[in-house]
Amino acid sequence: MKKFAIIYDKIFLKHNPGSFHPEAPQRVQAILERLQKEDIKPYVEFFLPDTAIKEEILWNHSEYLYNLISQTKGKPYTQLDPDTVTNEYSFEAAVKAVGAQKTALKLLLEKDYNGAFALVRPPGHHAERDRAMGFCLFNNIAIAAYYAKNYYGLKRILIVDWDLHHGNGTQKSFYSDSEVLYFSTHQYPYYPGTGHYSEIGKDEGIGFTLNIPLPAYCGDEEYIYVFKHFLESIALQYKPQIIMVSAGFDFCEGDPLGSMEVTPQFGIPVLTKILKNIAEKTCNGKILFTLEGGYNLTNLQESVANLIFTFLGIKEIPEKIEFSEKTKKIETKILKPLKELLRYKTKWQI
Ligand SMILES: [Zn+2]
Repeated sequence: MKKFAIIYDKIFLKHNPGSFHPEAPQRVQAILERLQKEDIKPYVEFFLPDTAIKEEILWNHSEYLYNLISQTKGKPYTQLDPDTVTNEYSFEAAVKAVGAQKTALKLLLEKDYNGAFALVRPPGHHAERDRAMGFCLFNNIAIAAYYAKNYYGLKRILIVDWDLHHGNGTQKSFYSDSEVLYFSTHQYPYYPGTGHYSEIGKDEGIGFTLNIPLPAYCGDEEYIYVFKHFLESIALQYKPQIIMVSAGFDFCEGDPLGSMEVTPQFGIPVLTKILKNIAEKTCNGKILFTLEGGYNLTNLQESVANLIFTFLGIKEIPEKIEFSEKTKKIETKILKPLKELLRYKTKWQI
C-alpha cells in the first residue's frame, strides 16, 4: 500500500484576509473535515510542517519582500495589493506554508512516502521575487523546487500548475532555468495576464516553461486532452526526478472566481492518474501536491478526496475517454502553434 502524507498546521486557519475574502480559512477547514471521514481517514497520515528559515525564503524572494511580510506580524490589517491582505498571523502562516514543502520533501525523498499534500494557506504561485500578489505572500512551490535543488541536488523538477490562474510568480522564478520545467494550464486571457503559449523561457530555460492558455468554459475533455497529448510526451522525455503540483481547484465547475468546468468526480481523478503514471515511469511515483486556489468548498472537498483515492489506487476510473470536436480547436489554435515553436527552438520531440 502506498503511503500518503498531509502536511497541516492550525496556523493555516488563523491567516484571514477578511470576512468577505474568497481565500478564507473555511477552504482548508472544509478539506480537513472531508479527510476525517471514514472512507479516507485510514489512508492519510498527518504531519506538522517545519518552519522555513529566512535564508530559504531568500532563495526565491528579495530581502525587501521578506521584511515587508515579516513586519505585518502582530498587525491586524495590512493591505499589500488590492486583493492581498494580511492579519497578525499571516507571516507565521506563510513561513509554515513554505516549511510544509520542506516537510513534504523529507517524507517523499528520505522516507517511503509516495505522495504528500501540503494543505496550506496562504497560497503561493502568484508571489514574485519582491511582490506579494493575488492572495499569495511567499511562493510555496517555487521554494519547494529550491529545497529539491539545494538540499537534495535534484536537477530535473517538473512543476505542473493546473490552478485556474497562471502562476506568474513560479514562471518568473525559473524562466531561465532548465532544472525546473514549469508547465501551466490556465484560463486566458484572465488574471494575472501572463501565460501566452509563446512564453517558453529564455536562455538556458528555453523550452522549460510551457503554457497552455485555455479559453473559458473548458472542462474535463480539454484538460485531459492537453495532459495526455502534450504534457505526458514532454514529461516522459524530461524524466523528472520529482513532480510538484500547484494544486488549485478553481478550475472546477461552479468556482466563484473561474469559468472552467473540470469535475471533481471525473476530471480530477483522470488528471491525477496521468500524473501518477508519469511519476511511476520516471521518479518512483513521487508527487508533492500543494494547495493553491479553489473557492467552492464542496469542490475542494471532493477534489482532494478523489485525488487521494486515485493516487492510492483505491477507486478505479474509466481508462478511456472519447475526444470530441471541442478538443480539435485546442489542438489547432493552441497546441499546434506551440508545438511548431518548440520544434524550432528546442529539443523536444513533439
Ligand atoms: Zn487560482
